[in-house]
Amino acid sequence: MPASNTMDAVFPDGHEMKNIRLTVGMDYPKERRWTDGWGVSIEVPAVIELLARVQAGTLSIEDLRSFLATQANEIAVDYDPREADPIQRETNRCAGDCDRCQAKRPEFDRLHQEALEQKAKFDQPGVYPYTVSRSSVHLTTCPEVTRSLGAIKQFPNSFWTVESALRHFTHEGAMTSSWAAHYWPMARHEAASWTAEHTGPKGGKQYRLCKICNPEHP
Ligand SMILES: [Zn+2]
Ligand SMILES: [Zn+2]
Repeated sequence: MPASNTMDAVFPDGHEMKNIRLTVGMDYPKERRWTDGWGVSIEVPAVIELLARVQAGTLSIEDLRSFLATQANEIAVDYDPREADPIQRETNRCAGDCDRCQAKRPEFDRLHQEALEQKAKFDQPGVYPYTVSRSSVHLTTCPEVTRSLGAIKQFPNSFWTVESALRHFTHEGAMTSSWAAHYWPMARHEAASWTAEHTGPKGGKQYRLCKICNPEHP
């Protein structure tokens, strides 16, 4: 949600300007993300008055620049405290295109490709009747599976562009079910191998059968 700020300013020559309106939380063009004041807007009439004072020689260009940068940075930090920390600021201002994101891209693409493959299997429950998560076994038609695998889509989907998903993945480790798989559909014999692999030497099971869809043991 954008926020409005109103301020009164006193300049070095004693001139006072009242009721200057600034907003934060709306304008984030990535081209200027490393310039002071990113994310903050100031009303144009105030800028014109300020420029007129520079033109008249009563306000120096350095003082004007410093005024704008200081005010905007204060407002930006107030609005989003992450802006005060250099590493969090980098994350905040990334558009899925920083060096860290570039380095993560192959892993991200691999995970997304895998998710699309799982979605294709999910669409054939006759061939892949069982679906496993990290710790449970389901029928592929289970509502829990459908909520997750049914949501997987190519980019851009209704939640994400590839850049926004990559940014959240790189900087926050987020893997939402709109692009990443958390369930793996399997043929019956594959599910039987999976449950065997997830059973300890003394017969202890490292998985549970889902209580919603209640599958037979594969
Ligand atoms: Zn990044
Ligand atoms: Zn289930």
